[in-house]
Amino acid sequence: MPRIGRYSPLIKRSFEEALAEEGIDGLRLELAPPITRRTVDRGAGCMDENICLPAKITLGNILDMHDEGIDTVLEWDQCGDCRQKAYWIMHSSTLRQLDVEMKIHPVQPMNVTGWLDEVLGGFSGAPRRRVVRSVLRKLWASDLAFMEAQARKLEQADADGRPKVGVCGEIYTVLEPAANLGLVKKLEDAGAYVHNALPLVQFLFNQLLDAGAGPSAREAAKKAKWAAGFSYLGMWPEVRDWCVGRMQRPDVDAELYHRAKREADHYLPKERVGGHGKESITWTIYYALAGFDAVVHLMPFPCMPEATVSVLIDEVASDYGISVNHFVFDQQFGEQNVITRAEALVNMARFRRQGAGSFLRTTRPGSWLGLDVGSTSTKAVLLDGETLEIVDEQYELNQRDPMNAIRTVLTEVTGRNPDRPIVGGATTGSGRRLAQALLDAPLAIDEISCQAVGCMLCNPDVRSIIEIGGQDSKFISLDANGVPDWFGMNSICSAGTGSFLTSAAREFGLAVEELGSCARSAPCAVNITGRCGVFAESDIVSKQQAGYPASGIVKGMSSALAQNFLSNVCRSRKLQAPIMFTGAVALNEGVADSFEEITGHDVRIHDDPRTSGALGAAFLALSRDARGGFTGFQPGTEFASHTFQCSGCSNDCEVSLIHRDGRIVCALGSRCGIHDAHHGKDIATVTADPELGQRRRRRSEAGAGQS
Ligand code: SF4
Repeated sequence: MPRIGRYSPLIKRSFEEALAEEGIDGLRLELAPPITRRTVDRGAGCMDENICLPAKITLGNILDMHDEGIDTVLEWDQCGDCRQKAYWIMHSSTLRQLDVEMKIHPVQPMNVTGWLDEVLGGFSGAPRRRVVRSVLRKLWASDLAFMEAQARKLEQADADGRPKVGVCGEIYTVLEPAANLGLVKKLEDAGAYVHNALPLVQFLFNQLLDAGAGPSAREAAKKAKWAAGFSYLGMWPEVRDWCVGRMQRPDVDAELYHRAKREADHYLPKERVGGHGKESITWTIYYALAGFDAVVHLMPFPCMPEATVSVLIDEVASDYGISVNHFVFDQQFGEQNVITRAEALVNMARFRRQGAGSFLRTTRPGSWLGLDVGSTSTKAVLLDGETLEIVDEQYELNQRDPMNAIRTVLTEVTGRNPDRPIVGGATTGSGRRLAQALLDAPLAIDEISCQAVGCMLCNPDVRSIIEIGGQDSKFISLDANGVPDWFGMNSICSAGTGSFLTSAAREFGLAVEELGSCARSAPCAVNITGRCGVFAESDIVSKQQAGYPASGIVKGMSSALAQNFLSNVCRSRKLQAPIMFTGAVALNEGVADSFEEITGHDVRIHDDPRTSGALGAAFLALSRDARGGFTGFQPGTEFASHTFQCSGCSNDCEVSLIHRDGRIVCALGSRCGIHDAHHGKDIATVTADPELGQRRRRRSEAGAGQS
């Protein structure tokens, strides 16, 4: 059976134990190989791009199984209105086309006379029923323990005042870490309590778990069907507790859940929309009613049911005042993006708990450093902790050598301020971990939170923040109390970012700084498609060939970038005034003009859009009293890296060993953390080892979602 999170080893073990108890042998059960980067690429390479991600991942996993000599695979044949029930048919067809000989058996959990008979054959009804009964009970026992643990952790989170995040969405993406790039663990690492709405039993026994005192006729009919199935299996206690009684989850407030279910009908007055779409609305309402700080809605690309309800979930978020972040995963999705968004989500929940007013008034003596290491530039801000004035700042292009840029900005800032020792600080930007390790910085904070704070310091009344940098773009909305309540970030394409403008500027032989005045000189904008950077470039070429003036095309590009940002990063959200524009692209007047034209609002440029993130980092370090650090930086310190592709498993991680004065200070890019063991070692000794990156990890340890 293709991998699905922690359930695969459990199901295998349960079947083996049950078969052994019955004395049935001759059947070898194998655990499907872990899902790695190569698994995902392999499945995606064999299927049409428009097929949803779980189908691609499971196909890759089936092909991996074939490599290991597995000849029979079980796949679900039941998933409400979702096309997931047709995966086994799609996969069988693809295997035939690939000339791969494997048998895929469709599985309907309660139809034991069908698939189990075909797979096991030759043993009678009673043992067969006992096998299925035993497996179902073990599955239930495991999930019951999981849900009880969730309930205990929730109590602890309330006691500790930790942010609480609910996770719902498409079930495979929720349950398989490789499909969500380990998002749940990343949220927990960032300090959140995470509640999973969909343990597998919720999927299997949905109607039973949901059924309240007065279920609908349809629910009652389903319940009766389940009762008949359990009776056939001889599961009498379960028939009593689950079907006749009112089964409740120990980690869910049943009363609130039933209220959420009723209120979900207001948004989607249909019983189902396919997959777990309707449930995602219900769970979002539930989490709001239960006092959670945020909801993470997970969906694979392109998932019709979840995409449909995401619009309704946004409405729920606004009506119930809960922050909802949609994560749409496809095979191109980058892990760094997931880490940043997970950290931002948790940090913003903390801001909301704290309240913006008191938070922005925090002061502390001394000078605080914020260091923003972005994809194309590095920025430093030195902040006076008592006056909250910027003492000094420095901006450097990375020129493909971020470590040198870090050294340069720090040399400049510290050199100009010898009488202002740095008492503490933080790093931010996509290179924040690198900088933190190099400099022994006390804190690393995601760039979304830092940009939010950098803009709040510039204008505490700001309600909408547009930040567009070299390769990232972000939108942050703030509520009427000035607290960030939602953010969006580009995830796959850089069409709405500075790199789009940089490559387009090259087409015209212009410097990036000249684009703004060029756009302003245009009598009108030429229509440019902005959905994709590559298509936009070819559109620009064809417009040039058609004789359109450069200024009109540049103005059209600015407009396309703004439109792309509003539809892909802001999604359906309307921008509330006052709007602030920051990031290096904010220096381009043409883009700012386009935002004003499209939104109908004034757009204020940040006082220093290039260093707003570093300013936010300095202030967050101050507010959290992140003292010390930066001892790793001394003038003359040598920073360097050694990169290699690890072949320890089929994740094929590109690992970078960062070293300072010959000692390894961190290993970046490893999904499993195996190379963290090199920390503190001599770089020459480690890289001289011919087995570096060759040692195979134990098979059970691998997995693309690990980090
Ligand atoms: S670093 Fe870890 S996860 Fe990545 S390829 Fe090596 S062994 Fe696999």
